[in-house]
Amino acid sequence: MIVLDGCVIAGGDIGHVAFEGDRIVSVGAGDGPDGERIDASGRLATAGLVNCHHHLYQSATRGQSQQATLFEWLVELYPKWARIDAGVERAAARAGLAALLLSGCTTASDHHYVFPRGAGDLLEVEIEVARELGIRFHPCRGSMDLGKSAGGLPPDEITEDRDEILAACAAAIDRWHDPSPGAMLRIALAPCSPFSVTRELMRETAELARARGVRLHTHMAETVEEEEFCKELFGMRPVEYLEELGWLGDDVWLAHCVHLNEHEVARFGATGTGVAHCPSSNARLGAGIAPVVPLVRAGAPVGLGVDGAASNEAGELGGELRQALLFARLAGGPAALSAHEALELGTVHGARCLGREDELGTLEAGMLADVVLWRLDDLDHAGIEDPVAALVLGPRPLADRVFVGGREVVRGGELLTGDAERIAHDLAAASARLAAGVRA
Ligand SMILES: [Zn+2]
Repeated sequence: MIVLDGCVIAGGDIGHVAFEGDRIVSVGAGDGPDGERIDASGRLATAGLVNCHHHLYQSATRGQSQQATLFEWLVELYPKWARIDAGVERAAARAGLAALLLSGCTTASDHHYVFPRGAGDLLEVEIEVARELGIRFHPCRGSMDLGKSAGGLPPDEITEDRDEILAACAAAIDRWHDPSPGAMLRIALAPCSPFSVTRELMRETAELARARGVRLHTHMAETVEEEEFCKELFGMRPVEYLEELGWLGDDVWLAHCVHLNEHEVARFGATGTGVAHCPSSNARLGAGIAPVVPLVRAGAPVGLGVDGAASNEAGELGGELRQALLFARLAGGPAALSAHEALELGTVHGARCLGREDELGTLEAGMLADVVLWRLDDLDHAGIEDPVAALVLGPRPLADRVFVGGREVVRGGELLTGDAERIAHDLAAASARLAAGVRA
């Protein structure tokens, strides 16, 4: 039994969080049960944050195409991503997942859709890295089969054959998906976007996912250009297209969803379709502000995502709590979203997007012991009226200790499961090698 002693818990009370094995056994005022006591005074305890959208490989192409729209950015970066190999993937995934753990994220999804021919199984590489670092992982087997020659956006060289994609998706589920309670790894299927995937692949992927009981994910309604593309190619708006393909439902969560009308917001709520809100990435690409508050009011889960580090060089989830709050208030005024509601996006709503709300997202007895202690006694936060305001409105606090399933992976703000300096060194080398176009 581990007892986090003297921490600030929900509502601002001082108390304890106790866990045994991978489960929380007690949360509340007072000292709690007997066990190995860890002094948590001056720390706010929250459930670990849940990252609902990422592209880990992009950590190797940061700082490029800095003032482009989504389509311009993609067209510039696709040829570089076509050269990614297992070495680049390993270095980028290590760096991306380490950054998440160090920013208080304990569960991460990754949307991997670039599988260059001859590069090996890059999904396997990132799964190995997630296991090594100790993060709870929901990788998506992504895909692209609509190349430029058939009217899509990506060059043909980084698309795959539809039958090969579906076989690889089925194999990924067979090999890695763990449906059991407390799972550290679950697979989802995730064709990339309307402008890089055929109608047939969207339909067949949904059929496969539903037959196998795994979740569905894709990019949706990110930019005005995407809307125009869908109207031209499919004769309808992106969400209409998705609905026609059977892609709205409570087993689906979608990245971005910036450009939704009122009817579409209501459909998300009625069907329980989830949204991965990526405020920093949307801002960097000038895509717009997603209707987060209307979606939440309609009943849709709205989790947070950092998106790939090529469109959000920060790549850390703690800071997205603040971005989400500021964006919601820019769109809807100062009362639109509270600091506590912003924290719920990063925890409870994120868990719902990934279908883990019965085990993740809140600090309660019986939930998985994914716990973060945020340091609030430092210069940036000391004395602040509301500890959650310190976390959300203040500078992102140090994630002092981070536990995933009861295992400590960060202590004193330092990664215990990897050497951060070595990871940074390897990322620099991989980024340089990729930029030079040399494969290992
Ligand atoms: Zn994305």
